Amino acid sequence: MTDNPSYDLECLDVSKNFGSIRAVKDVSFDIPSGSFFSILGPSGCGKTTLMRMIAGFEDPSGGDIRIKGKSVLGTPPNKRNVKMVFQHLALFPMMNVYENIAYGLRCNGVGNAEIKRKVHDVLERIALPDVAEREIHQLSGGQKQRIAIARCMVLDPDVLLLDEPLGALDLKLREAMKIELKLLQHQFNTTFVYITHDQSEALVMSDNVAIMNQGEFEQIGTPQELYHHPSTAFVASFVGDSNRWSGVVKSSDSTGGKVETEQGLPMSFSSAGEKTMQEGSRVNIFVRPEFIRTVRAGGGDLQDAAGENRMDGIVDSLLFNGANSRVLVRTGSGELVESDVTLTGENDLKPGEDVHLVWSSKQSMCFADQGKA
Ligand code: ATP
Repeated sequence: MTDNPSYDLECLDVSKNFGSIRAVKDVSFDIPSGSFFSILGPSGCGKTTLMRMIAGFEDPSGGDIRIKGKSVLGTPPNKRNVKMVFQHLALFPMMNVYENIAYGLRCNGVGNAEIKRKVHDVLERIALPDVAEREIHQLSGGQKQRIAIARCMVLDPDVLLLDEPLGALDLKLREAMKIELKLLQHQFNTTFVYITHDQSEALVMSDNVAIMNQGEFEQIGTPQELYHHPSTAFVASFVGDSNRWSGVVKSSDSTGGKVETEQGLPMSFSSAGEKTMQEGSRVNIFVRPEFIRTVRAGGGDLQDAAGENRMDGIVDSLLFNGANSRVLVRTGSGELVESDVTLTGENDLKPGEDVHLVWSSKQSMCFADQGKA
């Protein structure tokens, strides 16, 4: 990481202590210009504290924050070219849309003619050209979101910070706004930094996502990398659905190994050249439901039941969910295993049927048990 203006934002070993609480611990990352970056993590992991340091509302206890290659330590919030959209949007209810958007420009001493041009331009860009005279209470939830973004974007920030802005919306509007936000980011070609505890928001909108846990970044990657190649057990469990088994390594080399689960079942994993797991060490194995095939016992094609991993069980229940539905299978050791199936209505599995669960060792993601996930 160097003084590099092609990164809109760089954080270098940034930390924040509140007394004995280490809210953010030596976090480092950089964000290339014009990208959508999300910080995803559970409540209390330090997301808001990190965001507040970037915005200038909190001073870091250590490390450096750079905007367009220049350190902003000691620079007050209003002198950083960073704007922030809060969950409750903070629009001024006594002002109409035009005055809300114009406010920051007026504070910066911009002349009336220029304000008018900029406000109308930004309203065009957010596809709300006709709402300038409306009062805030006359807008829908989605329109308020867009006005809150327009009010920031009219000031042409280097970075727009968004602190769970969809949290207060109902489910349907939230779904629509995810796509909308991504399109707006593309339209303005400005770096958006979005914090959320909702993985579906982060995965849909982001070019890159940082997974934060207990004040630290566990992994930064594209949504696809995080989903298919999680580097820690925490990431594997936090991003996407997984079945999880704890167990002990029985044998292992650089290509993979064998584990005995707590239920006494054998399970194999392949590790494609990664570090060998130590024999006797405790591990967690994660398998995504879509990689487990459920094959009817007895009547099924034997070929279908091939795979390095196999368990036998009884269908407990089926959760219809359109194209990909989920079957919950109760294994002989009593646990419930989830796998994805296509329900067609004909010859579908039924609760109580005997089945085999099979999957390739390539789909078993194995992590040393560090007692953290
Ligand atoms: P949420 O998603 O619930 O908003 P978060 O990931 O944004 O959580 P933070 O609000 O950054 O988490 O809090 C991180 C930790 O720092 C928590 O343990 C919190 O209690 C603590 N913390 C945050 N602000 C302060 C403060 N001003 N004084 C003391 N402790 C604080």
